[in-house]
Amino acid sequence: MVSYDVVIVGSGIAGASLAYFLSKDGFKTLVLDVKPFERLGDKPCGDAIGKHHFDELGLEAPAGELLEGYVRGIDVYSPSEKVKYRVMGDGYEVHRVKYTKYLLSEAINKGVEFWGESQGVEPLVKDGYVVGVSVWVKGRGRLEVGSKILVDASGMARAIVRRLDFKWPVREDIDPKDMNIAYREVRKLKKEVEEPEILRIYVSKKVAPGGYWWFFPYSKEGDVVNVGLGVQGGMNYPNPRDLLHEHVISREVFNGSEVVEAGGAAVPTRRPLKTLVWNGIAVTGDAAYAVNPVHGGGKGSAMLASWCISKSVRHALEVGDTSAKSLWEANICFNKRYGAKQAALDIFRLFLQRLSDEDLEYGMSKKIIKEEDLNTVSLKGDLELSVVEKAMRLLAGLSRPSLLFKLRRVAHYMNDVKQLYMNYPEEPEGLAKWYWEVEKLYSRFKEEV
Ligand SMILES: Cc1cc2nc3c(=O)[nH]c(=O)nc-3n(C[C@H](O)[C@H](O)[C@H](O)COP(=O)(O)OP(=O)(O)OC[C@H]3O[C@@H](n4cnc5c(N)ncnc54)[C@H](O)[C@@H]3O)c2cc1C
Repeated sequence: MVSYDVVIVGSGIAGASLAYFLSKDGFKTLVLDVKPFERLGDKPCGDAIGKHHFDELGLEAPAGELLEGYVRGIDVYSPSEKVKYRVMGDGYEVHRVKYTKYLLSEAINKGVEFWGESQGVEPLVKDGYVVGVSVWVKGRGRLEVGSKILVDASGMARAIVRRLDFKWPVREDIDPKDMNIAYREVRKLKKEVEEPEILRIYVSKKVAPGGYWWFFPYSKEGDVVNVGLGVQGGMNYPNPRDLLHEHVISREVFNGSEVVEAGGAAVPTRRPLKTLVWNGIAVTGDAAYAVNPVHGGGKGSAMLASWCISKSVRHALEVGDTSAKSLWEANICFNKRYGAKQAALDIFRLFLQRLSDEDLEYGMSKKIIKEEDLNTVSLKGDLELSVVEKAMRLLAGLSRPSLLFKLRRVAHYMNDVKQLYMNYPEEPEGLAKWYWEVEKLYSRFKEEV
């Protein structure tokens, strides 16, 4: 049986960035994907990534043909579209295919192997460890490939972990209500967009129940936009494509526009997987639910999860121990940098999904949470209690006090869950007890708010 130090199943941004990070160490690494090389990274996406993700990981900012445009900020519109919050922050519209292929090509140049049109079918398990994967390779049939560490980077397919028994903590399946079903089109308009470096997000329960719709210009072209809509899963809401066409594409700005690309996919919008690693296995990207639960952006956090995993894989291979304990640091690394904020934003997401359009309109028009606070919530997952208290004093006597009381409770819960994730167990033995605390907090929150 052919064997590798690391086998990565899936070469979207999570798998390709992991191969990139690992390639510097000279481990014998194989990446496989059901797609041929030319189509890697080709999946429906809004393509927006904050600049801070590249800065934090020491990655060169995408430039030239890897880029569709620059971003300077985001306008968030209320349900009536009369109130607008402008949140400034630099970022990019990234060419999803070229950027993914760039990361993997860099890894291949350093000796990483790639098999296209190859499907990871199921993990091979021996004595409580994942020791390889069975692969179906176009033109060669079924093969068994050995691995010291197997990585599931197959996105929402979760092709490897969902074939493991439920007693493996990396199996943790997702509740459909913790997903967003999103559809987007890239369209060439008849006219250039005003302020093409400003992305636009529209919250409206009527148009996008449990999600939002977006209008993201590609500033390099000026007249090309990425327009899409997401709805909460598991709620029997209408198809996001129908909603987008009925409420958005019917607008004047799209008259005479041409569809360049179209497609949809599911996005996990919850707290991260309870552990990214177990004996002989790691999970990254969408497969590990490493996505911002409020805006559904998952590319930056996928790269971060892969970076944390690369450090643990390096350690485990160097000491010759691929147990959960030896790989554990990946969890601490990810939760300190992102998972804690992500869990806090998950609480905020659950709250937002319960608000009516009237509540949202009221909250935004009265500036209960201001632009700068929204920025802090989104960057750090902190809804400062002082912000809510101030709003409560200012708005005393106005209607909807219950909304403010709820917001205060939400701020408390966000803070509590964040603390819980900052105190992630130091070793795998502590996982079950810690996760029991997390689930207790979530059920209390759901009952209360
Ligand atoms: C409509 C939409 C808009 C979005 N907008 C944004 C945005 O603007 N910004 C942002 O940051 N995020 C956005 N996201 C989320 C983002 O696209 C994902 O978080 C990100 O692409 C996840 O990357 P990944 O590598 O984990 O998974 P994927 O990109 O899904 O990659 C998984 C790879 O695994 C391969 N694969 C699957 N099964 C197997 C198998 N059995 N064997 C071998 N290979 C396999 C697939 O072919 C694929 O190449 C959006 C998502 C959607 C659906």
